[in-house]
This record gives sequence, C-alpha cells and structure tokens, in this order.
Amino acid sequence: MSDPAVAALVAAGIAEVQGEAPLAPLTTLRVGGAARVLVTVHSDADLAAVGRVATEYALPWLIVGRGSNLLVPDEGWQGIAVLLGRGLRGVTCSPSPDLVGGQRVRAGAAEPLPALAVRVADAGCAGFAWACAVPGTVGGAVRMNAGAHGGDMASHLVEVDLIRLRSGARETWIVDALGLSYRRSQLPDDAVVVSATLDLPPGDPETIRAEIAEIRAWRRTHQPLNQPNCGSVFTNPPGDSAGRLVEAAGCKGLEIGGASVSQRHANFIVTRPGATAADVLALVAEVQRRVRDTAGVDLHTEVVRVAGAT
Ligand SMILES: Cc1cc2nc3c(=O)[nH]c(=O)nc-3n(C[C@H](O)[C@H](O)[C@H](O)COP(=O)(O)OP(=O)(O)OC[C@H]3O[C@@H](n4cnc5c(N)ncnc54)[C@H](O)[C@@H]3O)c2cc1C
Repeated sequence: MSDPAVAALVAAGIAEVQGEAPLAPLTTLRVGGAARVLVTVHSDADLAAVGRVATEYALPWLIVGRGSNLLVPDEGWQGIAVLLGRGLRGVTCSPSPDLVGGQRVRAGAAEPLPALAVRVADAGCAGFAWACAVPGTVGGAVRMNAGAHGGDMASHLVEVDLIRLRSGARETWIVDALGLSYRRSQLPDDAVVVSATLDLPPGDPETIRAEIAEIRAWRRTHQPLNQPNCGSVFTNPPGDSAGRLVEAAGCKGLEIGGASVSQRHANFIVTRPGATAADVLALVAEVQRRVRDTAGVDLHTEVVRVAGAT
C-alpha cells in the first residue's frame, strides 16, 4: 500500500519523493536502514511543504547534508529524511560592508564545504582553507559548528537564513544567536539552514591554495580516507585528544563485526561492506568502556546518532 505521506508530498508539488529509501548510501559510514520517506528539497517552498506534511502525519524529520556525521540505525527510521538538493546550492561574493578589504560570502546550505573552500580561495578570501577536507555541506557545518586546523564555522560566520519547519517561516539569525561552541550549535530542532553568510578577510590566492594542498596531503597521510567513516567519532575532552586516549587504551585495530577502529587514526571508525550500525555502536561502547577503565575519561560521541541508533 502506498504511503499517504509520500502521496501528500507529491501532491504538494515536490518531485523527488521516495518511500522506504535506504539511507546508508547517503552517509559516509555506509551503514543503517531505510527512511520511511526521503524527499529532496530545492527551495523554501519545498521545505515549508515538508513541514506541513510532517505535522499532518505526525512524522519526525531528519535533515541530511552529505551524511558525513550521521549514524543511521539498522532498523531504519520512521520519519521524513530531507535531503538538501542543488536548488539550495550557490555562492556569491561581494565586498564586505563590515570587514575592511574583506569579502561577504553567501553560500547555499547544500554547498559542499570543500568546493566552497576552493571557490573562496580563488576569490582571494582567507580564513576558510580549513574546510577543504571536511566532506560536509554548509548547513551541516553550521549545525555542527564544524572546524579543523584551527578554524571553525563560528570564526567568520555573520548570519544564517533558516526555514522553520513547524511554521514554514524564513528567519535570519545572527551568529551570536546560534550558540555555537565546540562541535555544537543551539539551533532549534525545526530549523533548516538554507544559507550562511560569512565575512572573510583578504588573502593571497596562491598562498591559500598552497595551504589547501598541505591540509589535503596531511589528511591523506593521517586519516583513512579510502574507507567509509564519519570523521572523528568522539569529541576531544578538554585539554586532551580523543584519538590519543583511544590509542593509549589499546583500541587501534579493535574490530566488532564489520566495524573497526582505524589503524591510521584512532578516533576514526571504519566500516567494511556488510557492516551494521549495531557493529559501529557496539564498537563505540567498547572503546568508551576501555578509555574509561584505562584513563578514567568519559568520551562523548561527535557523530550524530539518528533517533533509535542507541
Ligand atoms: C573523512 C571525514 C573527515 C571529517 N573531518 C571533520 C573535521 O575535520 N571537522 C569537523 O568538524 N567535522 C569533520 N567531519 C564530520 C562532518 O563532515 C562534519 O560534521 C560536517 O559538518 C557534517 O556536514 P553534513 O552536511 O555531512 O551533515 P550531516 O552529516 O548530513 O548532518 C549532521 C547534522 O547536521 C544536521 N544538518 C545537516 N544539514 C542541515 C541544515 N541545512 N540545516 C540544519 N541542520 C542540518 C543533520 O540533521 C545532523 O544533525 C569529517 C567527516 C568525515 C567523513
């Protein structure tokens, strides 16, 4: 029998709607089950329609960027997964009204961070090279306050435009309202970032491109980029490094089912074909136990566990 929520989304004019859609291929960990509904949105109007249908059918929603920080449960997820499509990409650069010599960069939420990093480097903008090797989207990076190599989203963000799924309203929130801290934001649960505005200082494109090349080379050497993973699994505890603690607890190479702690970087869990979310979660719990036993430290996960993946 066809899903009435799928029918309602189609009736609302959304072209790309799928029932029982596998989510694993939409995540970089490549594990987990299907969403009851997967919808690809390209506009504010699409998002407002999703909000209306979710409310009508009392379904939860999950915004999916590049799925580079998502762990989906094996049993799947009974809600509407909302993939931000190409209509929510695009970058504009113009002189900043507030930062002398700088550029005001406005990027659509679905814009991939590595592409944006290169684009703004070419435009002579400094301060964003860190994002060249973070395989997420602008929207996901705002939600997570992504960061690396000494930079993060909070550093140069001016404001974001949001669509509130409950009301369908578009709102502009200045950076101070977002409550950004280490890998966290305080965005309301129904807030979908549709664009982000940054003020970036001027820089020499050649120098920034060299910085990007250096960061990419460092990542290739130090991270298991040829295997499915979700980046750092655990946040760094204050004053320490999660990777160091995991390695010191003897967890490098530890395997459960198809999931293992990377030999290359102890804060990465990598998966093999056939791995399950349960394998990953069991490994997460085992690593946490061993680090607690050896170092007395409780590691907290950075990866977002989609409801039910506990
Ligand atoms: C190889 C690798 C390296 C990584 N390195 C880093 C790193 O150096 N630093 C770092 O911070 N992270 C890193 N990550 C993790 C990840 O790339 C970031 O957290 C990224 O910001 C997630 O973006 P995404 O679009 O993939 O979000 P998703 O994983 O799709 O979603 C993450 C969260 O953001 C929410 N979300 C997504 N889009 C939106 C939106 N438009 N509006 C509101 N909420 C939204 C989701 O609902 C979810 O809660 C790495 C991951 C990988 C696989």
